[in-house]
Amino acid sequence: MTAMRRDVLKGLGVLGAAALGAPAAGAAEGGAPAAREEAPDARARIRARIAATTLVDTHEHLPDEADRLRGAFVECDDWGVLFSQYLDSDLIAAGMPKKQRDLLCGRGADSEAKWRALEPYWPAVKHTGYGQAVRIAIRELYGVEELNGRSIPEIAQAYEKLRVPGMYRRVLAETAGIESCQVNFLWGPFKESRQPTFLLQDLSFLGMHIGPDIRTFAEPAGIEVKNLEDWHRVIAWWFDRYGPYAVAVKSQAAYLRGLDYEQVPARDAAPLFARHRAGESLDPAERKRLEDHLFWFCVGEATRRGLPVKLHTGYYAGANGMPIARVRANPGEAAALCRGSPQTTFVFMHIGYPCWQEMIALAKHYTNAVIDMCWAWIIDPAASKEFLKSYIAAAPANKVLTFGGDYIPVECVAGHARLARRGIARALEELVAEETLGLDDALALVDPLMRGNARAIFRIEEKIRRLESAPWL
Ligand SMILES: [Zn+2]
Repeated sequence: MTAMRRDVLKGLGVLGAAALGAPAAGAAEGGAPAAREEAPDARARIRARIAATTLVDTHEHLPDEADRLRGAFVECDDWGVLFSQYLDSDLIAAGMPKKQRDLLCGRGADSEAKWRALEPYWPAVKHTGYGQAVRIAIRELYGVEELNGRSIPEIAQAYEKLRVPGMYRRVLAETAGIESCQVNFLWGPFKESRQPTFLLQDLSFLGMHIGPDIRTFAEPAGIEVKNLEDWHRVIAWWFDRYGPYAVAVKSQAAYLRGLDYEQVPARDAAPLFARHRAGESLDPAERKRLEDHLFWFCVGEATRRGLPVKLHTGYYAGANGMPIARVRANPGEAAALCRGSPQTTFVFMHIGYPCWQEMIALAKHYTNAVIDMCWAWIIDPAASKEFLKSYIAAAPANKVLTFGGDYIPVECVAGHARLARRGIARALEELVAEETLGLDDALALVDPLMRGNARAIFRIEEKIRRLESAPWL
């Protein structure tokens, strides 16, 4: 057993222990031919290899564990939090009134009242990806098979029991088999995490190009912003300070506008910025031109420092708000971004759902396009499996990332990771059964799909080395 493999298994905890005895482990290390003859069928070997491999989780919104344990950055601090993201959206779409949703996910109501709010809608959503993630989390973390009126007290108790120091390691490493996460902290541009080598961070550039949010960014930089040039200096300050420690930069501006960023020179953007700074409101076309200029300025700063640019594409979180025509335009606009800056690595998140076929075409065609399946397994588990199958048979295997939980409540990540492991297994099994892949080819893909691609694309080893002596520790 190599040192690396030992590390992997150690990180895996229960998952690894289950997989240790699996014949695939011996075969992977060049086990004796006799052992190979006894190897179980392709399905079992693929599953064993996946169970024995850790995931690099490329997208989360997790607060630091210490903050979570004091109830910060979550809507409530009981089992209702498991429904607060994203299952509440399916519940609303199923017809649950907002008031009932807030009772379930908010503070103040007791378990019984929460269950009464949930019960009428539970049968409609328990089978969706969001619903399955929560049910699996309850099963794997609390040991409760089914959520119903009788099991609620047990779930409420188990929630408290898990919510103690060490909770993140228990859920993420031991249960989900995750070796590291990439956190897009939603309450500031960059989180100086207390667990920096486990909860790696993105630098959010959303407020640098949308808004822009002058006060939030300028104050820590100690720069008085009088004009666009000053604002450029503020942006550069954030990139200088956190770029060496960030795995990537991230923007979810696709919730607010299209990805049709045009190259707007500074001389055209400067008067618009001056008016924005003076508190004048810009018309939509002027606002777009200012955002376009700042987007490319930020992309330039990221690219100069070798930081991939993660962009939200596709589906919208929430309910009753998504302009699907705008979502549909994302892949075409993403192609223009790839052409606009060939030296930038663009990571298009969430497989652009539901336009995932176009995203495969992007990765197949553009050297600098990476497609990230973060969030996808719970949005639509069946489509995600089809995406991965099509992707593997069509596009270079080194540019797909297969897991990001995309959660604030850490518990749900365990459920999502289980769905991802199952989906990756099924995709590979079916490709083998269909003779698209040989078994050895399928087994060889497990490591890059689950961890290797992410480690290379985000230069994780280098970042971890630097983070071990981060200045804020
Ligand atoms: Zn997200």
